Amino acid sequence: MSSSQKEKVKKLRGIAVSPGIIIGKARLIDRSRVKILYQYLVNDQQVSREVDRFKEALQAAKEQIALVKNKMPEQIRKHAFILDTHLMIMDDSMFSNATIQTIQSEKINAEWALKKSVQNIEKLFTQIEDRYIKERIVDVQYVAERVLRNLAGKEQEDLFEIKERVIIVAHELSPADTSSINTSKVMGFITDGGGRTSHAAIMAQSLKMPAIVGLETVTHHVHDGTLLIVDGQTGEVIIDPDDEEIIFYQEKQLQRERFESSIIRLSHLPAETVDGLRVAVRANIELLEEVVAAKDNGAEGIGLYRTEYHYLRSSDLPKEEELFEDYKEVAEILAPDPVTIRTLDLGGDRVSAGLALSKETNPALGLRAIRFSLREVGLFKSQLRAILRASAFGNVQLMFPMISGLQELLDARRILGEVMQELDSESLEYDRHIKVGVMVEVPSAVTVADILARHVDFFSIGTNDLIQYALAIDRVNENVAYMYQPFHPAILRLIRQVVEVAGKAEISVALCGEMAGDPLCAPILLGLGIDELSLNTARIPIIKKVIRTLSLQESKNDVEKIFHLETASEVRDFIRGKMQPLLKELEQKDLIDSTNNRNKGASLHHG
Ligand code: PEP
Ligand code: MG
Repeated sequence: MSSSQKEKVKKLRGIAVSPGIIIGKARLIDRSRVKILYQYLVNDQQVSREVDRFKEALQAAKEQIALVKNKMPEQIRKHAFILDTHLMIMDDSMFSNATIQTIQSEKINAEWALKKSVQNIEKLFTQIEDRYIKERIVDVQYVAERVLRNLAGKEQEDLFEIKERVIIVAHELSPADTSSINTSKVMGFITDGGGRTSHAAIMAQSLKMPAIVGLETVTHHVHDGTLLIVDGQTGEVIIDPDDEEIIFYQEKQLQRERFESSIIRLSHLPAETVDGLRVAVRANIELLEEVVAAKDNGAEGIGLYRTEYHYLRSSDLPKEEELFEDYKEVAEILAPDPVTIRTLDLGGDRVSAGLALSKETNPALGLRAIRFSLREVGLFKSQLRAILRASAFGNVQLMFPMISGLQELLDARRILGEVMQELDSESLEYDRHIKVGVMVEVPSAVTVADILARHVDFFSIGTNDLIQYALAIDRVNENVAYMYQPFHPAILRLIRQVVEVAGKAEISVALCGEMAGDPLCAPILLGLGIDELSLNTARIPIIKKVIRTLSLQESKNDVEKIFHLETASEVRDFIRGKMQPLLKELEQKDLIDSTNNRNKGASLHHG
């Protein structure tokens, strides 16, 4: 559709993936597919010229990706492994050698031969059952598209070349696109394609950049330079707004910014209820680079350091030394505050290119987390060595994921004991009194919590998985997402049971699932007796503010009443009623969306 023919549409609604309001001019990014024409080559000279064209286009694509990787903004470096995957695809013989062979054997042009290679790879991918791996076909397609553009001599507009303050509008953005967004210029982006867990959505959150995906037709309605209002909280895009709309949204934007900065200013105050209960609020992190933001937002230590990143980002397994340096730095920056390092939680649909994990029919119930570590003892030991060695440099705690019963815990502790002996014999320093805990996230662990409590220093309740396993709903399956209910009486009873057992055993109990970051859950968790919360860094200021408005006594009374309620929605309505007008204030400022309590962060893809 030519720009003059663009339809007049005023408002569109898509999937809001990263909050914030922006008002600015559109910049259309053309990522339309390159048209491929079939061409038969008549002589050997043409064949070898075509092979050379392909090799050059491939080489150029590699250089372009490497450049994007080098220029990637700090906040999204953790996603660089996707670009490594793209480089690996280009080196894969099914992609490169196969294309060259097809040019030579079928005497066809490079574009057509590449198209055939991609079709062959697509065929292979359709046979894969694992949904996550199956979806990785998009990476092959992105790479192919880039090579095709190079072959066509089409200018590849890289987003870091954008020098004006604009809102990017595109049909779709590839990982290389989102990795090269110039964060000081680009205000946000909106796309026709993409879903809640698409790569672009995850990147927008890491970049703290308002974004809406899944708008389907926005590129049909917007010109380069069209004025737009993008509301990343509601998913609304207003095209060519009138003065009234601009003023309304400017006001909304201002209110939100004022409120947010007032909350952040207060984030260093302790999270203490009006009647004096001090709650420890700590951060969930996935990489070293997040530590500073966590401290800035008022985290009193790290309650959950997810350690999968080092294993997922490249095809080589990390060395003990690399892990040690990383953990040591986190521990040093946060000392004397604690850093709870969780051992590897791979498997499920967190799959590493460096590990030959067999395909499983039910990955969430398969060789995941501690089960995997107990199978791969060498790998487990190298991580334990790194964690223990780092414990000499700060306040490190160790935590095992997915413990389902005592035997697993004893096995893990036995291996930990062996590693300690090894370090002793090598005269390497570590904290001999390091606190060891378990994630309570499998319903059976709740049932035998009294037994586990005798063998650990603390519990940390992982509600993301506890909800998944207790309510039998796959946490990454959109079809049953409506059943993902933190307020389900079964979940509240499970949490209560763990807290009671921990109280009797005199061990501490934290909660580190997404529930910890939901303001509506705060009074329930406090009333149940949780005294440590660990949550996404961005939520810390809000949760601290909420806690400062609560009374422990009143929360306990509320919990009494809640345990007489029978359904998740009754609990929810009750708590919403109790928490007005604070909720109103948070909602008005777009800081929470408590009307739609889908647990967005609960996916296994942490981004
Ligand atoms: C949980 O399951 O609640 C949790 C915090 O762990 P993860 O989300 O990493 O599985
Ligand atoms: Mg978990």
